[in-house]
Amino acid sequence: MSSRGGDADLEGMRVRVSAARAAAEARGETFYQGASRVHLAAFPPRERWDDWVELSSRAWPARDERHYMLVPTTCFNCESACGLLAYVDRDTGQVRKFEGNPEHPGSRGRNCAKGPATINQVTDPDRVLYPLRRSGPRGSGGWERISWDEALDALAGRIRSAITEQRQNEIMVHIGRPGEDGFTERVLASWGVDGHNSHTNVCSSGGRTGFQFWMGIDRPSPDHAHAKVIYLISAHLESGHYFNPHAQRITQARANGAKVIVLDTRLSNTATHADYWLSPQPGSEAAINLAIASHLIQTSRYDREFVRRWWNWAEYLTECHPGGPVTFEAFEEILAGLYAEFTFEFAAAESGIDAGTLAEVAEVVADAGTRFSCHSWRSAAAGNLGGWQVSRTLFLISALLGAVATEGGTFPNAWNKFVPRPIHVPPHPGVWQDLSWPLEYPLAQNEMSFLLPHFLKDGRGRLDTYFIRVYNPVWTNPDGLSWMEVLTDESKIGCFVALTPTWNESAYFADYVLPMGVGSERHDTHSYEQYDGQWVGFRQPVLRAARQRRGETITDTRQVNPGEVWEENEFWIELSWRIDPDGSLGVRQYHESRAHPGEKLTVDEYYGWMFENSVPGLPKTAAAEGLTPLEWMRRYGVFEITRGQGGLHEQEVPAAELDDPRTSPAGRVYSRVARPFSPNIVPMGAPDPDGQGRQPVGVEIDGVVRRGFPTPSGRLEFWSSTLAAWGWPEHALPGYITSHVHPDRLAPGQLVLLSTFRLPTQIHTRSANAKWLDELAHTNPLWIHPADAAGLGVARTGDLVRVETEIGYFVARAWITEGIRPGVVACSHHMGRWRLDGGPRGAGGMMPTVGLDHQGDHWAMRTRAAAGPYPSADPDTARIWWSDTGVHQNLTFPVHPDPISGMHCWHQAVRVRPAQPGDHHGDIWVDTEQAREVYRQWLARTRPAGQVSPDGTRRPRWLMRPLKPAAAAFALPQGDQDPAGSP
Ligand code: SF4
Repeated sequence: MSSRGGDADLEGMRVRVSAARAAAEARGETFYQGASRVHLAAFPPRERWDDWVELSSRAWPARDERHYMLVPTTCFNCESACGLLAYVDRDTGQVRKFEGNPEHPGSRGRNCAKGPATINQVTDPDRVLYPLRRSGPRGSGGWERISWDEALDALAGRIRSAITEQRQNEIMVHIGRPGEDGFTERVLASWGVDGHNSHTNVCSSGGRTGFQFWMGIDRPSPDHAHAKVIYLISAHLESGHYFNPHAQRITQARANGAKVIVLDTRLSNTATHADYWLSPQPGSEAAINLAIASHLIQTSRYDREFVRRWWNWAEYLTECHPGGPVTFEAFEEILAGLYAEFTFEFAAAESGIDAGTLAEVAEVVADAGTRFSCHSWRSAAAGNLGGWQVSRTLFLISALLGAVATEGGTFPNAWNKFVPRPIHVPPHPGVWQDLSWPLEYPLAQNEMSFLLPHFLKDGRGRLDTYFIRVYNPVWTNPDGLSWMEVLTDESKIGCFVALTPTWNESAYFADYVLPMGVGSERHDTHSYEQYDGQWVGFRQPVLRAARQRRGETITDTRQVNPGEVWEENEFWIELSWRIDPDGSLGVRQYHESRAHPGEKLTVDEYYGWMFENSVPGLPKTAAAEGLTPLEWMRRYGVFEITRGQGGLHEQEVPAAELDDPRTSPAGRVYSRVARPFSPNIVPMGAPDPDGQGRQPVGVEIDGVVRRGFPTPSGRLEFWSSTLAAWGWPEHALPGYITSHVHPDRLAPGQLVLLSTFRLPTQIHTRSANAKWLDELAHTNPLWIHPADAAGLGVARTGDLVRVETEIGYFVARAWITEGIRPGVVACSHHMGRWRLDGGPRGAGGMMPTVGLDHQGDHWAMRTRAAAGPYPSADPDTARIWWSDTGVHQNLTFPVHPDPISGMHCWHQAVRVRPAQPGDHHGDIWVDTEQAREVYRQWLARTRPAGQVSPDGTRRPRWLMRPLKPAAAAFALPQGDQDPAGSP
């Protein structure tokens, strides 16, 4: 383990804290250092969380004391999982506000605006409080309140029938914002159902795929705080992945002199803080990365020893240069030739950024050495055909510099997160869901979720029971009107269930709307890569924890939540119990108490077992305070397991794990010893090629067996044997794929529309129910450069423009700004909410009432009543002063599935023109038959498993899947077993 303790910044703070302590003691006062040891002494120290006293600001100058019990939970408003403290009023028993949890090692007491706005979601007058069942045709707006028992029995009966009738593939749970790592997957596995679907292929698959093919792990964990150079292909400081935890560390590094390089076509808030802002032509980002990489290679500024030890160059030479010498020197020569074409001039021609600037940036990168941290997430990787090569070429720079798992470098994320083992782990289901993992996309990073309407229209299957949870497919996905067509077709989806805290555009079409808690009303554990360390956080219903701390017995989270709002974990346990009431299906055993056999598992037992048995160090720490591990987590909300663990790939594999080992010619070491459950270190790798049942445990490097990486070779895969073997040999190396919006592919007069950015104060669906956030940001004008505006006849900011896509158009207001490249327009994807006339109000401040006209395949949407003030239980809704809530652009986008990663490629080639006579702001027009045609065009780009699979399987088994079926389910179906290369 390496230590970060020598950090000068930290040391300085320690000195200041010591001085403050001495001064306080000299005054005879108790010194509260603050829970984050040094930085955040202003936060309530945890010793005083039982009775924290503040003066009421409204009573001033009178000293009106308010007494609070501070209860930790975790924010649920983005993927960062920052710590929150709920201020529970000791007199009223209600939550007064949320602030940061200084105990949280990731967020360190800090939050963005969305964290404290959790209180708005709790008190939202428009939220769903009771289980509802539709009382008319789908989407007609009629609802009746029902009991939870009615809903549970109806759903359990349907699911039980589907399981017993071998219709497991007719059950699907579609996830938006995940809660606990693996929870829903395990529920589905306990049912024997391969029914997990996710939103990831409209979000981050492009970014993940590039990292996955290098490291075997699909996310980067940059150690920004200690970097010398920070390279971001993302609006990372304001809204990128883990942005608050990362942003504060980037800020810390900048204070220490780090340089920040930002690639973003749009002048984001992040770009304004960069030392180098590069605004490239969309889709050219990989060309820039390759030019920088080429510079490192041509000038020998790379870490030769790291490349020699950790790249799979020998495998590459053996496979791609047969007969040639397999020496590192030979590889270096070939490497230089491979990337010689990616000059600064080439990148300049592609990106529109001058070669001199690129050369200057490349020098800055070269100087970073192993303190080069980087991140690429949605942005370019989510926008372009071949966007996954953006992250693959970005990591090429890290891998050349040797800046992998180094201080100030970039780690595989799995080493900087921790997933505790749960009390029950059901076996892998024995079925394969083709509606999520179709044969055309054997290498897709995640489920092909956004193609579901097309697959259902193709007749590939039907769904008996379809759940969405914290997910709004009609609004979030491209091609939402095709979603609407299938969601209202009961022959395609028999029963549609929305688990949601709030109304949304999809829930309107559900058969059941079941109310779920917001971030302070539900249980989850989670852990994310935010620095070189591991922590596990605990989201909890704060009023349950507060009342338990006061000695009350709470057995069901509904007892403390508003109305009949529940939490998912208890819901899934109860539903599973009712699916299999006598245990005969084999489902019930995974939802049963261990302490009290025959009884239902409680969340207290579930988390109590987890914290007692699978979080190293927690039981001892808790015992030191006289608490059980669960009591400790309910009190403090987060536990840090390790800090500064460094590069795990270098660890030597202990002799005890090497039982009858075999080493492949490429150096992969296999052993008969099954590794203990440890998803955090080396979760998987290629199976033993000899078929002898051994497991990969390491890789031989210079005669020593080390942990390595969970790739087939055990090394970093410069050359991907997987891509080569599965039909894409031309993309097996980090390279450049020209985008579907490359200038050469644009018709005259077309512009590129960027739709992948979000505003820092809004998220997808849930934030519209947070009034503070709505007041901060509520619309999404079209960014357009003055030169383009002049050429198109758009005279002023605020003028209406019509934006035409392949399948329709939307009408937006123009925002004329030099913050965007000429030839490119941009529109934030977090606005344009709506509600149907006659339906529930949803979120009054952000959802205008719209009318939908539908004639054949043609759809038209128009606003009938803009958002505005309205009376409710919250007097603030009568003070709403805005009426422009943007436009729902995603409805007008066809699907663009990348044939390799499966990522929806969001960028659009569009025509922009002044609004036409009769156009209104927010208008939408779409042709869903044209959407079908675009779907077919992109489907034709694929190379299906039936044609390319080298081994008769549907997908490489080593690749990740959130819910992995049993090995037998990987076999290609009968009729498709014609593996490539077979005679
Ligand atoms: S960054 Fe903001 S929204 Fe995301 S978890 Fe942290 S406080 Fe919540």
